[in-house]
Amino acid sequence: MKTVAIVGRPNVGKSALFNRLTGKEISLVHDRPGVTRDRLVAPCRFDGRAFELVDTGGIGLGDREGFAAAIAQEVEIALETAGEIIFVVDGREGLTPLDQDIARQLRRMGEKREGRRVFVAVNKLDTEALGERADEFHRLGFEGVYPISAAHGLGVQELLETLTEGWPTEEEAAARPEQPLRLAFLGRPNVGKSSLVNALLRDRRTLVSDVAGTTRDSVDVPFRWKNRPFTLIDTAGMRQRRKVSDPLEVKMTGRSAHTINRANVCVLTLDATAGVQMQDKKIGGLIAEAVRPCLIVLNKWDVVQEQGDAGKKREQEYLNALRHDLFFLEYAPVLFTSAKSGERVEHILRAVERIEKSRRARIPTAALNETLQKAQERYLPPSVANRRFKLYYATHQLDDDKPHPVPTLVAFVNSRKLLLPAYQRYLELKVREKFPLEGCPIRWVWREKETLDPSTRVSKIIGKQSGRAESARKKR
Ligand code: GDP
Ligand code: GDP
Repeated sequence: MKTVAIVGRPNVGKSALFNRLTGKEISLVHDRPGVTRDRLVAPCRFDGRAFELVDTGGIGLGDREGFAAAIAQEVEIALETAGEIIFVVDGREGLTPLDQDIARQLRRMGEKREGRRVFVAVNKLDTEALGERADEFHRLGFEGVYPISAAHGLGVQELLETLTEGWPTEEEAAARPEQPLRLAFLGRPNVGKSSLVNALLRDRRTLVSDVAGTTRDSVDVPFRWKNRPFTLIDTAGMRQRRKVSDPLEVKMTGRSAHTINRANVCVLTLDATAGVQMQDKKIGGLIAEAVRPCLIVLNKWDVVQEQGDAGKKREQEYLNALRHDLFFLEYAPVLFTSAKSGERVEHILRAVERIEKSRRARIPTAALNETLQKAQERYLPPSVANRRFKLYYATHQLDDDKPHPVPTLVAFVNSRKLLLPAYQRYLELKVREKFPLEGCPIRWVWREKETLDPSTRVSKIIGKQSGRAESARKKR
């Protein structure tokens, strides 16, 4: 989903516009510059196109440092997380130095990400006659300048029309053909990968395409299951690997790494009769290092069953040992299968489907921030050298440039140094409790507010402003 951010200095009417666009009560607008959590982010829909609207003024950065630094930070967050920007200015007051600072920051940082547009919404032009006051804002150098009145709803329709022009409607987005789900069986030789693949392809519910070049000997095998397209990747590699002897293990690792990166879901296959071995850990480590979705399959379970009790209790024992040895794959669900009897082999595809669904799930910004704020309130981050970690705002970044992105959370924090590993695990746990991310690792991207050095930025901005005011005075 697209994300649109509203930026601008205080009191220009950002929250009034936010409420207007999201259809919320206008009464939420306060007559003083300030912060309300209610206006942070909300879903919007216009003409069959859905998007998420963020009011960066609601992030609440202005609590400690001067507001100029807070605004600069908000603009940066907007640029980092939103596809489009609505830059709100006050048409009655006219162009101010702070508006120009924001414009400069938008231009400078916007250049890094191509295709991002900035819409200048000149607010508080409550009558048609006031419309021409918007003209001076063309000087800011952005393409579109729109006279609006957030309070009365004037001009808002035009702004939305231009903003959403060319976006696919929700209907169009849903009608896109489904991409095949790419899964890779990885594991030591002889754990039963080929047997599992054969069992899957033999299943009467599986339709193997018999297009030329898609035989079992080819590298990738396409098939359909429950009317969903799948591709088994690198099946040939699986066969060759069996001939590989130890000195060439490095090569195999190289190949595994390549396969891991091409897969939507990696199926780490283990032999239940052998337990977790060094090489299993190595391959598992590669999957974790590559931050890829993963399912662990403990195969040859029939052998364990034959040896006697293989009920829930036994499963739990195996599971505990496995979790201990493969602790870095904590996020991966575990299945007990038998390629020989076919037992639970189909569960692999079901689990893979669920994992892929999690991988593609959209984590709504509002709920994510609520979860993280609550988590921080319930259990305060431990203080480090008399200071405390603080997470201000986080958003799920949809990285469409990468072929198979995993859930990536960009978090704006005061200082990464203050985040202890245990606390990070706690935050992740809370996120996982709230959002079903089965089998998916979370990629955290930390953005430090401190690295921006707010003090120099404040003085820089204020310095610039007073400098400009000075030269303006001299001119007069
Ligand atoms: P923010 O700090 O940028 O979020 O600004 P607010 O939305 O809180 O608005 C600041 C002030 O401007 C409030 O007193 C609003 O009532 C007023 N305001 C907002 N939009 C309009 C508008 O379209 N016309 C007029 N006349 N006043 C507005
Ligand atoms: P790969 O090297 O990982 O592809 O392993 P294979 O699929 O070639 O299997 C290696 C050996 O294990 C073969 O002799 C299989 O018959 C046997 N095998 C595979 N899966 C199972 C299973 O679930 N149960 C039992 N008992 N044997 C299995």
